[in-house]
Amino acid sequence: MFKITKEFKWEAAHRLSDGYVGKCASIHGHSYRAQVTLAGLNLDEAGMLMDFSDLKFVKKWINDYWDHALILWQDDPLRMVLVNADRNHELDVQKTYLMAEQPTAENLAFVLYTHIVWVLPPGKAWDSVNSVKVRVWETVTCSATYWEES
Ligand SMILES: [Zn+2]
Repeated sequence: MFKITKEFKWEAAHRLSDGYVGKCASIHGHSYRAQVTLAGLNLDEAGMLMDFSDLKFVKKWINDYWDHALILWQDDPLRMVLVNADRNHELDVQKTYLMAEQPTAENLAFVLYTHIVWVLPPGKAWDSVNSVKVRVWETVTCSATYWEES
């Protein structure tokens, strides 16, 4: 079995809501880090499981949607407070990413995993890759991982 891993970093704010009690109910920021690990049995003619440059789409997606964004649960009451308070549309520049679940490290790992599995170039890439694992760090010491058993 071969494994390759690429790391991605971004800055973002989030908060936990829906009855969550604790300091993470306040908007706060993290220097997030993610490790994407792909595994497979066979290498291509170039001796690679996958060219690292084929994972540039992950960095682009993170930059487009999560970097310097406010990441909220889609039903977070704060969302409507912000929308209703924005009479002068000053928040139009506020990059917000809404999630179907609470924006925990676990759910961020799941969202990124799902994106990678759907977008990873078909054909050559999936011929050799049979496992994807995504680990997201909220802090230097706290991380969550999502993968599916094959
Ligand atoms: Zn947090």
